[in-house]
Amino acid sequence: MVFQTARHKNPDLLGLARRHLQNLRRRDFVAGTALIDGRWIAGDQRDAVVDPASGEEFADVARCSAVEMELAIAAAERSSSAWRAMSPVKRGGILRAWASLMLANAGELAVLVTSEQGKPLAEARHEIAYGAGFLEWFAAEGERAYGETIPSHKPGSLLQVRMQPIGVAAAITPWNFPVAMITRKAGAALAAGCPIIVKPAPETPLSALAVARLAEEAGVPPGVFQVLVGDPIELSAPLLRDTRIRALSFTGSTEVGRLLLKGAAATVKKVSLELGGHAPFLIFDDVDLDKAVKGALAAKFATSGQDCLAANRIYVQRGIYDAFVEAFSAAITRLKVGHGLDPATDIGPMTKLSVANKCRTQIDDAVTKGARLSSARQEQALPQNFVLPTLLSGVTDEMLIAREETFGPVAAVLPFDTEEEVIARANASEMGLAAYVYTDSLRRALRLSESIEYGMVGINTASFTGPPIPFGGWKQSGLGREGSRHGIGEYMELKYVCFGDLAA
Ligand code: NAD
Repeated sequence: MVFQTARHKNPDLLGLARRHLQNLRRRDFVAGTALIDGRWIAGDQRDAVVDPASGEEFADVARCSAVEMELAIAAAERSSSAWRAMSPVKRGGILRAWASLMLANAGELAVLVTSEQGKPLAEARHEIAYGAGFLEWFAAEGERAYGETIPSHKPGSLLQVRMQPIGVAAAITPWNFPVAMITRKAGAALAAGCPIIVKPAPETPLSALAVARLAEEAGVPPGVFQVLVGDPIELSAPLLRDTRIRALSFTGSTEVGRLLLKGAAATVKKVSLELGGHAPFLIFDDVDLDKAVKGALAAKFATSGQDCLAANRIYVQRGIYDAFVEAFSAAITRLKVGHGLDPATDIGPMTKLSVANKCRTQIDDAVTKGARLSSARQEQALPQNFVLPTLLSGVTDEMLIAREETFGPVAAVLPFDTEEEVIARANASEMGLAAYVYTDSLRRALRLSESIEYGMVGINTASFTGPPIPFGGWKQSGLGREGSRHGIGEYMELKYVCFGDLAA
């Protein structure tokens, strides 16, 4: 996250996205055509793309149908044998070329991301580099999908375990990281030798389609990587019922994750899910206050709070509680709210009005139940998708914000007394994605890293994600892992082969 110190200039929100898009060198990035079987489809029906900051419709995209999804599945199946037969080195070369094209077009891709998602442009640029990193990572992982040789328990035999591509995969991706959540899935699938069909969030189609343009330019063959935008239920139904789709990867809400898991059960697909978070952020009274404030600020307000890793419950030990609240409140007050295309902006709009409204419900609930509120100052009236960065202190475990994910720029601070107590409170959630611990005690850090029930734990850091790490959650935060050497396994089957009768 990049925090600017320049004064917010009260920009004219209307027309900003449209003007930036008119200046794009890559006109094909705004064509809004779906990619099916190597062809760019304009579609009979078009859906508007909306700038969440201004509410302005600034582009439109093809609305694909279930019939087109059937065509895409057939095309993926046809492309499958040639893609899996290609050497991993050659597939890796194509993935690396794709990553290079993303980096070469990072500026224009970032404008698309900000225009339809809302995040500040500096964060959008960072997302492009982060997203390209997964293609590079998996290019190499595909070359290292070694399998195993097992010391045999049967005389005169050789036991092998091979990793083989699972078949055609599908990805349903969210709007908060409209580029990186595609490449994190597609990089792994393609490196494994699997074609993949992507259904992006309807809020952020242009980023997905631009990434598809670059995939084609990099040499990904027709049918191997396809992107179809449209109604989520209509487009996911064929993906769920078709036996040719062998793996399904989803990032989004736990509610939809449950539906997809259920839908995939009939054809027993391999399902990987990256769902909601509700991250606890534990601050003990032995820490450097400045570091804790900086860490909490980054962990809470990156992506304007619309991040599954966002610190949702900031537990602060009683000894430094008042000092932390004062310093954190001052830091939050300095955050600049505005259009993501304005370079002064730290916090953009919520991509969806429903997310902004959920923030307001949680704020009202907490204040009604006795929490204290302080928020960033704002000179201009902002449209409804904006939520001012807000601090709620004196939050208790009964308040909504302590019980469910916020997904917006509202920070909840809760006091605690003992280590034992805070571990129990942090773990008392059905979510188990990420957790943070700030302490100066090595012993305590080691104890907590063991007892905390989360898939990813940052000790004295708010920044730990990237291609090499196994991204994923415990409990109802998900199934499987993305990135790292484990991610490619979501798109592979193990095959055990026993060669017998080898004795001379
Ligand atoms: P969502 O789960 O509805 O959307 C994510 C993806 O699922 C999108 O592509 C959407 O089109 C698709 N989708 C929605 N309903 C579907 C259905 N019935 N069948 C098939 N696909 C479907 O998320 P949302 O409503 O846009 O956001 C709500 C909450 O979800 C957020 O507040 C946040 O808690 C969570 N979320 C988490 C992440 C994450 O990174 N883990 C990302 C986005 C949203």
